[in-house]
Amino acid sequence: MNEEKNSASLLAELVDDFSLMAKKVLANETLFHSLVEKSSESLLIVGKAHGEILYANAAAEKLFYTAPGELVGQMFGHPIREGEISEIDVVHSSRRKTTAELHVTPLEWDGEAAWLLSLRTTVERHHLKNTLHKNTDRLNALINASPLAIVAVDMSGCVTLWNQSASRTFGWSEVDVLGQPLPLMPAPGGKESLQDLIEQALHGEVLYGRELTGQQRNDGSALDLQLWTSPLHNSQEITHGAMIFAVDITERKRTENQLLNIAGIDVLTGLANRSQFRERLRQAIERVKQGDQPPFAVMHLGLDRFKAINQSMGHAMGDQLLREAARRLSSTLYDTDLLARTGGDEFSILLRDIRHVRDGARIAQRLLDSVAASILTDGGELYPTASIGIAVYQQDGTDADSLLHNADTAMQRAKERGGGTSQFYTEGLDLRAREQLAMESDLHHAYERGEFKLFYQPQVNPANGLIMGVEALLRWFHPEQGSISPAQFIPLAERSGMIIPIGEWVLRTACAQAQEWVQAGVSPVRVAVNLSARQLEHPQFISSVADALRESGLDPAMLELELTESMLVKNTEDIVAVMLTLKKMGLQLSLDDFGTGYSALSYLARLPLDTLKIDQSFVRGIGQNQTNNSLSIAIIALARSLGLKTIAEGVETWEQAEFLVANSCDEIQGYFFSHPLPAEECTTLLTAGSIFPSPLQQVLPAVWRHQRQRGSMPGLALAH
Ligand code: C2E
Ligand code: CA
Ligand code: CA
Repeated sequence: MNEEKNSASLLAELVDDFSLMAKKVLANETLFHSLVEKSSESLLIVGKAHGEILYANAAAEKLFYTAPGELVGQMFGHPIREGEISEIDVVHSSRRKTTAELHVTPLEWDGEAAWLLSLRTTVERHHLKNTLHKNTDRLNALINASPLAIVAVDMSGCVTLWNQSASRTFGWSEVDVLGQPLPLMPAPGGKESLQDLIEQALHGEVLYGRELTGQQRNDGSALDLQLWTSPLHNSQEITHGAMIFAVDITERKRTENQLLNIAGIDVLTGLANRSQFRERLRQAIERVKQGDQPPFAVMHLGLDRFKAINQSMGHAMGDQLLREAARRLSSTLYDTDLLARTGGDEFSILLRDIRHVRDGARIAQRLLDSVAASILTDGGELYPTASIGIAVYQQDGTDADSLLHNADTAMQRAKERGGGTSQFYTEGLDLRAREQLAMESDLHHAYERGEFKLFYQPQVNPANGLIMGVEALLRWFHPEQGSISPAQFIPLAERSGMIIPIGEWVLRTACAQAQEWVQAGVSPVRVAVNLSARQLEHPQFISSVADALRESGLDPAMLELELTESMLVKNTEDIVAVMLTLKKMGLQLSLDDFGTGYSALSYLARLPLDTLKIDQSFVRGIGQNQTNNSLSIAIIALARSLGLKTIAEGVETWEQAEFLVANSCDEIQGYFFSHPLPAEECTTLLTAGSIFPSPLQQVLPAVWRHQRQRGSMPGLALAH
């Protein structure tokens, strides 16, 4: 086989080399010269003006029996007719007469118009004819003895040359095909056919050792080929046909495929095969047992109704579908996951690192979606669907066999449910993951359907009852489930990336609302917007803030962004840079849920913050014991030492409010004053004036009573 390949490539190289050489010769005058010099043909160059010999090569000198250089300068003395072949008598010095055929080609010689004359004597012509015959015979012998199948076709695709190897390779004999169009060799499953490649060659394309597998001989047996094709040109560079050299590589491919199989590769799809999958699964189990790896899941995916497709549309179509499914699945998975073809129409997937069961459900859904896109085949459009069974390591099995078996059982159940769906082996998990998944996909639509609304919760200066700001809080009104808490859906939106468009919507809406209040003449309030880490890390974040401000016309000083400590620990430098830009733009920045995270004093001081929001958990502890009280006081003191304003969150009771006022907390937010309200209700509150009606009337006198008792100025008292 190797020998065949070598001779084939050798031949192709030779063809290439020769045409390259011809080009070089024409381009290189000295080479041309030496070629003329050494030519066995008698060549003369005769000036047109006087008929004087300007050059004669050695063969010409020999023909005329003259000494070297003697011919030059003499008159040629015979009539010269351009474009015609004439015969002249040549009398050389021995006085013997002979006739020579005279070919005339005009050319330029040393800047003068001249003729190139080539002379061939009768003897030479006879000799040449013989050699030509001999060469043709040799060439024919070579072509027929060649281990390569050699085929030539004319422009209409009819065979003009078909050697013995071609008969052996394709199964048709020379008499079957000569002068006929190339016999149709069916190329199954939309594969490229030999005809396609010949068509390309006729259009000028050159193929060099291309493999063409899955073809058929005339008896229907499988045929794999390696091909070299080239267009055939005449002297005017016009294509008049194509030449094909082919090597039968069926045997080699078979051996290769066997080797692939031994190496654990599925030949049809190039994926891992069943034995490799089992081995890798076994290794993964070992590693998890040693504690090196997070838990993983095994998925078993089966194409729905594959057997029907295979039977009705043919195996070739089935193969095409399997390959396309393999391609789609592997492009949906991460490189670290392992995808294998483990049965006729079945794939297995080793999903590494699934921390949450819902991750498994989400990935399963992605895989199902990727398979479900229609496939255009030769036989029309196919709409494949798949079923997936999922088994999670440990709870659904601790060894390879039980995991595979359970994933398979789960897949069967998915199929029983009508296909196109996934199923966990463990029932309960399935349900929870499914709910999460449903919510995630609803979230996509919620945005488009306008199911989101912003509520606003006032932040009040307790000393005078002025509403200083409002915090915008997102609400999702699900058509079936009613209001869903942001605590539930924000993490989902973060994971799926939906938080980016949602977050932008929040920013735009909040800014527009705040500006509406300004324009309506109600007391201008600062609007606080919550951010997610993913938003802050997004390269377009700054510009989306700028857009929201520009579109609404809101004064940047009226926009406050709430960040949390957990957002600041990762990529601190980058985040600080973003914060500094926001500050330059004139925005306010606050640190939300303060005290629940990791904040170290040193790093807090470095951040360009305006406000600390004391977390609800501290506020809730107020009045319960001395430690809790001291903690809240310490936080306020800390904020003050850093020059930051404090807002206490989740203030629900009179006692909490009074304590915070007494300890100089700047602003208070919580149910005590107001729940988060829809914009319209908030407008009413803001228009009603600065003083809160009922609750504050209760608080203020109490606070002042308290402070009077301690003899301290309002806003400076510290209780211990
Ligand atoms: P958060 O930023 O800490 O918001 C304060 C939460 O406490 C709000 O919950 C609010 O309704 C609630 N709250 C206010 N006053 C009281 C009170 O007196 N007592 C109690 N127990 N709770 C009170 P909500 O609206 O459910 O929001 C939950 C979280 O969802 C927010 O916590 C925030 O982290 C997030 N979130 C809300 N809206 C957005 C948003 O637009 N974008 C982002 N990224 N996150 C948001
Ligand atoms: Ca907040
Ligand atoms: Ca908070």
